[in-house]
Amino acid sequence: MPARYDLHTHSVRSDGTTTPAAIAEEAASIGLAGFALTDHDTVEGWPEAREAAARVGIDFLPGMEVTTKHDWRSTHLLAYGIEPDLPQLTAALARVRESRHGRAREMVSRLAVDFDIDWCAVIEGGEDRTLGRPHIADALVSAGYYADRGAAFAEVLHPRSPYYVPTYAIETVDAIRMVREAGGLAVLAHPAAGRMTRSVDVSALEEFVAAGLWGIELDHPENRDDWIAPLTAFAKSNGLHITGASDYHGAGKDNRLGERTSSLETWNAIRSLVAVPR
Ligand code: AMP
Ligand code: ZN
Ligand code: FE
Ligand code: FE
Repeated sequence: MPARYDLHTHSVRSDGTTTPAAIAEEAASIGLAGFALTDHDTVEGWPEAREAAARVGIDFLPGMEVTTKHDWRSTHLLAYGIEPDLPQLTAALARVRESRHGRAREMVSRLAVDFDIDWCAVIEGGEDRTLGRPHIADALVSAGYYADRGAAFAEVLHPRSPYYVPTYAIETVDAIRMVREAGGLAVLAHPAAGRMTRSVDVSALEEFVAAGLWGIELDHPENRDDWIAPLTAFAKSNGLHITGASDYHGAGKDNRLGERTSSLETWNAIRSLVAVPR
């Protein structure tokens, strides 16, 4: 079988449920040639993932999934191989993480009116992770209200819920520019995810390409097949690279590590172009 690489995974440094080292071990055990760690808005997991990948004999690509928005649409942006200390980017990410923290606190205080949960339960796994609704979901699951994260999202954590509070997101085009300035490559994550009301539209893609977008994650378990055609056509006619990845979150989501992957050719293309290729 040709070499396969999973370009989108989350660890306990954000809202995955397994450690960076465990992802490396699992990747090796299922026969992946390498993986990128792409925790939300943080690079904290890189050293552990890098070391574990070397130990189990597979390749590692440092990445991140940046919380961005375009025209009020929440738009996730994968950043690969960035030099993590560009001051502008560091400051923007710090603002995102702080906002996530305050927003989680506010959602928990709203939920605490109707549910017996508190902040301690939400930050049980460490306050230094990038906090998100999945951590609130976990607290609700632990308290016995829901069977899993998915059920908590469906009932009380979705954007139209009275308990929902929005969080700060970087403008997508600004994030693309900063990622490039930091020597990285930007790839638009899950542009046709079924949890949204519609796919990212082509006019948005035009703006992203003008800002320097390199690729688009068209092969993702949550993309809707019936939304993909115009995006594929756009990618092909505008020279966007098409990536595949699982968006693994450990036990936090159904997505299985390596269920979607990218080729050696894509992996090498990314590595040859970024400031921090391993
Ligand atoms: P937040 O970062 O707080 O906006 O929460 C979004 C995160 O929650 C994303 O990383 C998703 O992968 C995750 N998520 C969204 N919907 C669900 C769901 N139904 N079940 C589990 N995780 C989800
Ligand atoms: Zn996530
Ligand atoms: Fe995402
Ligand atoms: Fe993700």
